[in-house]
Amino acid sequence: MQLKFSIQILCLTLLLAQNASWKVYAHDDKRNSKNKAGIKTIIVDAGHGMPDPGAQGSFSNEADINLGIAMKLGEKLKKALPDCKILYTRTSRNLPNGLQNKDAANRWRAQFANDNKGDLYISIHVNDVAARYGRRVIGTREENYTTYTGKGKKRKKITGTRTVNVYESYRLPCATRGTQTYVWSAAKNDEKKGYINQEMSREYDMDTTFSMDEQEAKILASIYLKKYMNRSRALAELVEEEFRAKGLPSAGGAMQFNRGIKVLGATAMPSILVETGYICNPADEQYLNSTSGQDTIADAIMNAVVIYKKNVEAGIITEGLQGAD
Ligand SMILES: [Zn+2]
Repeated sequence: MQLKFSIQILCLTLLLAQNASWKVYAHDDKRNSKNKAGIKTIIVDAGHGMPDPGAQGSFSNEADINLGIAMKLGEKLKKALPDCKILYTRTSRNLPNGLQNKDAANRWRAQFANDNKGDLYISIHVNDVAARYGRRVIGTREENYTTYTGKGKKRKKITGTRTVNVYESYRLPCATRGTQTYVWSAAKNDEKKGYINQEMSREYDMDTTFSMDEQEAKILASIYLKKYMNRSRALAELVEEEFRAKGLPSAGGAMQFNRGIKVLGATAMPSILVETGYICNPADEQYLNSTSGQDTIADAIMNAVVIYKKNVEAGIITEGLQGAD
């Protein structure tokens, strides 16, 4: 009795899974027939923007560095992949769309990527560590003082002036350096699935020949989530490989899951966030602000994207149809 019940459940599961995979292919075919290349639109996102400077170094801020690298990356991608549409979330020093609030700006970025049916989202950032401060002498000043000598009737008041140091507190440089590329954290899976679902239904609403119930939509969103995660991980690894090939220190592997990066969770597409170096590290800060440094970083990311696109279109990067939950 129980066994029969389990078999029924198993059959139902298999049926659903089969049905779902078929629909994925149907959906992909439909998409591919519209654009053969598979990866057609790439969103390049410079993180932060005034009035949100992001991390601050000794002479520069993250928002400006991000913009410099993102603009170079976009130009290089346009040349390397002329069949792709390259879209920037911002091209000025300021937050996108005239926004003043960074959370609203992050929501806008994700919406922009989804509205434009991005196939890939690349966010450029600069890393930092928690600030530690030191104290240093920046000059001297004259100070009046009063003191007493002797006891009882012999007690005497002495006044005078003396020179004392003037200090300022300053941020200590950090020793940490190098690049890191992140994918969204596991904690963001449900959120991401929600956005995928939303984007799918927008697409299916326009297609009257296709109908899908809620359960099917959920399964399909799970499959896409897995597929996007596989692709994002693969690209993150490629980016770090390219950084290492160019002699850049890769700090801490290709990715970490312990961060809930908002903008990555809200985009319904493969998405990565590249931390291009540490602004608190004097060598990294110099490098990140130099034209040659920004060029090298943009080149490495561009190379990774070119390989990624080729691999995805050749079916080398697994689609993640198994084990989707
Ligand atoms: Zn940042």
